[in-house]
Amino acid sequence: MKKFKTESQKLLDLMINSIYTNKEIFLRELISNSSDALDKLSFTSLTDKDVNVDEQLAINLAFDKDARTITVSDNGIGMSAEDLDKNLGTIAHSGSEQFKEENSDHQGEDVDIIGQFGVGFYSSFMVAEKVTVASRAYGQDGVNVWASDGIKGYTVSEATGDDVPEALAAPGAHGTVITLFLRPSTEEEDTDQFLSEWKLRELVRQYSNYVRYPVQMMVEKSREKEKPADAGDDYKPEYETYQELETINSMTPIWKKRSSDVEQKDYDEFYKTTFHEWQDPARTLSFHAEGALSYDALLFIPSAAPFDLYSKDYEKGLALYTSNVLIQEKCADLLPDYYNFVRGIVDSPDVTLNISRETLQQNSQLRAIARRVEKKIHSELESMRDNDREAYEKFFENFGRGLKFGIYNSYGSKSADLAPLLLFWSAKHEKMVTLAEYAAEMADGQDKIYYAAGDDRDRLAKMPVVKNALDHGFDVLLCTQDVDEFMFQVMRSYHVEGTAGDSEHAGTEAHDVDFANVSAADLDLATEEEKKEAEEASEKNKDLFSAMSESLGDKVTSVRVSAQLGEAPARVSAEGPVSLEMERVLEQGPDAAQAPKAQRVLEVNAQHPVFEKLVAAKSAGDDDKLALYSSLLYDQALLVEGLPVDDPVAFARNVCELM
Ligand code: ADP
Repeated sequence: MKKFKTESQKLLDLMINSIYTNKEIFLRELISNSSDALDKLSFTSLTDKDVNVDEQLAINLAFDKDARTITVSDNGIGMSAEDLDKNLGTIAHSGSEQFKEENSDHQGEDVDIIGQFGVGFYSSFMVAEKVTVASRAYGQDGVNVWASDGIKGYTVSEATGDDVPEALAAPGAHGTVITLFLRPSTEEEDTDQFLSEWKLRELVRQYSNYVRYPVQMMVEKSREKEKPADAGDDYKPEYETYQELETINSMTPIWKKRSSDVEQKDYDEFYKTTFHEWQDPARTLSFHAEGALSYDALLFIPSAAPFDLYSKDYEKGLALYTSNVLIQEKCADLLPDYYNFVRGIVDSPDVTLNISRETLQQNSQLRAIARRVEKKIHSELESMRDNDREAYEKFFENFGRGLKFGIYNSYGSKSADLAPLLLFWSAKHEKMVTLAEYAAEMADGQDKIYYAAGDDRDRLAKMPVVKNALDHGFDVLLCTQDVDEFMFQVMRSYHVEGTAGDSEHAGTEAHDVDFANVSAADLDLATEEEKKEAEEASEKNKDLFSAMSESLGDKVTSVRVSAQLGEAPARVSAEGPVSLEMERVLEQGPDAAQAPKAQRVLEVNAQHPVFEKLVAAKSAGDDDKLALYSSLLYDQALLVEGLPVDDPVAFARNVCELM
């Protein structure tokens, strides 16, 4: 007996002791595994001429009331002894990682864990006390059986004689037969219900109706017996029961149906089953084309981001079918990177069956479909943004970062498309706004879109420069994602659409508005008067500033007066292309050592009482004091910006000295 891998064991414990109410999903999981195994076989037959599939590919469902078993079998690709060990001895790695995380956070909340990722095959242990999996890999002779009670471990052994299921016995047979030995029914748990034709039919219709292969079950039917030739006038018809293999799912691929013929709950169920999701999709898009290029597409915008969306392991793509055969599970060419979260299916008879990655990329039909797909997603998002803002904000929270990267990675060439989909936190309105909304209420004389960047929104909102901009009537976008500023740099400006003028309101012409970081040293929000005062103060205190700059050494490139500090005595800002926030983000990146640095400027407020102290120290010729003050001012300004002080010990010492 082999032991399960640790993470699998935890999951199995959970399955066995599950209080999950939807135990019946075990059937959909098994059928969907079978369907995958059939897909794999039919796909292999396309690429490998030694593999021929001439029999009908199907899934078979059976139950035995006396033995209390349910059997799910398929004539798919099958598994070797090694496959059985590898595939059923451990759960999928990515799923298990997540499982561990989830499990450490909320002990006992098994409902979510079961729902959150494809628990697949193991879900059978929610209803079964023992499970056997007999399988014969395509092209191999031996039948192997995996057996387990889900607790102690599992065995894999070669089957002989009567242990070989009939379906796998014939020469050339292949596929898998899974038998669940149901737990006894108890008051809390009714397993008997699954031992009925009616219940199994219902479950197939509910969860597996659109599986493309026939799900067949031998069902009992009744018919009138033939009327004997010598039957008299008083003949009463007699009935007999007989067995017939019936296909109990609809099989029409759901993506071929018009959306008006499908209920949303069926789409939801299909989505959850096919993509191993546990929440309904946020949006469903079904569209079709006929003519020169024909295809059916069914796309979903998920309502939550997969946990690995931003990791290297995440694979984008749509399932690509041609004439009902799955060609590629994740055809990446069908989705741009910034819509990588979309799940779905494209089925086109026009895509050639001659499958290799190269031909797919060069396939012009495929490119045409990809363009349509992108357009459809785009307009769905626009409509969500305009008609269901709440849902759109949730969408943006999940996937907005990807859209921003889309602009950044395209060096801005995708800005025109993607910028209208962006949302930012408005300091003024304390809610998310679009750039168009921001632009629509720009103050008279405002010629820039202002933003502040950092990792903490509350802190940004409290920054003196943000307050100052708001006081001038300029809203500020508070940006907390690492990509934000880099994106603004490649975007440079936002294109504001012109508006038509009517008799009361003059229209505006289309124009471009630049983005500006409110923290930038060269930002000019001051009034003419404030500027004049600042200039005078600069002129008068030239020596003071050069002395301060000297004492701060290479920490700053210059010290100067700023008229836009509000109540703050000083602040650190950056001039040039790299802002303080960008410096911080770059320092966390892979090329930290080579990352360009911000050119720091210490700006002082000539209206602040502290400034007089500086002037006094300078005119008294007290260089030590001036150095102490400069250093303190610089350090406290860093703290206000949320940046670390270079030397905390020196900072603490300076504070004490002052006291
Ligand atoms: P998942 O289907 O999410 O990968 P499962 O635990 O349900 O996880 O199944 C694990 C693996 O076992 C599958 O990926 C597949 O390789 C294999 N498997 C399960 N059922 C079958 C089957 N009926 N035929 C062939 N292989 C199967």
